[in-house]
Amino acid sequence: MADKQEQVQQTPPHFPVVIVGAGMVGAALACALQDVGIDCLVLEAGALNQQADWSADDVDPRVSAISLASQNVLNHIGAWPRIEAMARLQDYQSMYVWDACGTGHIAFSAGEQHLSNLGHIVENKTITTALHQELAERGIEVWSAVQLQDISPQSQSPRHVNLADSRVVTTDLVVGADGANSKVRQLSGLATREWDYPHHGLVTRVALEQGHANTAWQRFTEDGILAFLPLRSPADATAGSYCSIVWSMPAMAAKAHAEMPDEAFCAALERAFEGRLGKVLGTDARYVFPLRQRHAKRYYQPGLVVVGDAAHTIHPLAGQGVNLGFLDVAALVQTLQEAQHNRQSLGDTAVLNIYQHRRQGDNLRMMALMESFARLFGNQHPLLSLVRNQAMRSMQTLKPIKQHLAQEALGVGKHLPPLAQRSA
Ligand SMILES: Cc1cc2nc3c(=O)[nH]c(=O)nc-3n(C[C@H](O)[C@H](O)[C@H](O)COP(=O)(O)OP(=O)(O)OC[C@H]3O[C@@H](n4cnc5c(N)ncnc54)[C@H](O)[C@@H]3O)c2cc1C
Repeated sequence: MADKQEQVQQTPPHFPVVIVGAGMVGAALACALQDVGIDCLVLEAGALNQQADWSADDVDPRVSAISLASQNVLNHIGAWPRIEAMARLQDYQSMYVWDACGTGHIAFSAGEQHLSNLGHIVENKTITTALHQELAERGIEVWSAVQLQDISPQSQSPRHVNLADSRVVTTDLVVGADGANSKVRQLSGLATREWDYPHHGLVTRVALEQGHANTAWQRFTEDGILAFLPLRSPADATAGSYCSIVWSMPAMAAKAHAEMPDEAFCAALERAFEGRLGKVLGTDARYVFPLRQRHAKRYYQPGLVVVGDAAHTIHPLAGQGVNLGFLDVAALVQTLQEAQHNRQSLGDTAVLNIYQHRRQGDNLRMMALMESFARLFGNQHPLLSLVRNQAMRSMQTLKPIKQHLAQEALGVGKHLPPLAQRSA
């Protein structure tokens, strides 16, 4: 009798799905799975954000250009109204891309796409705050400040997820949503294809003399790519506008620019941007990230799957990273819902292969597009400069090509899973 009691006490709790990582992708997935009746446990290494009223002075240097498809995902799970309520998002109606070495440019506008905007620039912390509030309000079980130790047995469902503090849970499906350096991916041995770009990315928020014209700006400079993404101005703003910048450049140059005195940095930035928005009046703290392209060759094995940056990281030049992650969420939810309907195990490889089939081609296509842009614009050979200026002029005038590019960036050009479609 005593033995039996001990055995019962030692049986680890079981969840149909265990999501590792409560970043934008993992937290969105947990909410969306609950909406289709699939319970999950979320394991997060850090702490959760739930303060909606974070101060206007408290700025997250990392922002995302949220596509319409991602907005739909966030809207379906109730996070978008929370993001709107925080009043820190900025829509953009135009996108203007030009080359420093020539006269070629491409311009996109919401009007020509028959849309009210092309997307929204939102600080990552605003998105995670909204999602973490949603997790709390829905009563989804989250264990924060955990250290993942091991996932056993290898390549077999159900899995045991072992934490460093000796807690264990069992599950039909472990989802690795733990970012670019995913421990889930590493523990599972899922192989990746990856390489470093010669560039690092520098991010910060800057104050500008002129208004940003609700436009996302991108300039291909002599030695990198510089994006100005429009931000909502704080209520007490004294500047004409604020933009988040993502500036990719050789690693040494990025380090030097991060360490420059503010005045020198603002002057260098103004020159690199050709003063298109007047003087750069001020800068927040600057952060530098190495840029790496990485793609898991397979997204799954029995009882385990990877999503978001755990499956793929791409060059931030088109701001598509988290948008691919939200489409992974939409496709995985659709796939698991179908599996549940067909009474299949959620960790079944036949099920997970459908998810991979739905996402891998699209992710690879977007990565290849970013890669060709990064290579075409990262090279200052005069002949290539001529080619890309001609290419930009052609794209600007050839409507079908331009339309295709715009639809890729907006996330509206392909057959989307239900969660990424607009609600009726
Ligand atoms: C310079 C730069 C600029 C970018 N700009 C854009 C942009 O404009 N638009 C865009 O769409 N994307 C952009 N990206 C990419 C974007 O930031 C990522 O695609 C996005 O953050 C991925 O979300 P995620 O939830 O998959 O991973 P993450 O945001 O990395 O979240 C992972 C979560 O898992 C947790 N975690 C990690 N390890 C563990 C563990 N072992 N156990 C438990 N929890 C764990 C982390 O604490 C975190 O909460 C940019 C990236 C860079 C580097």
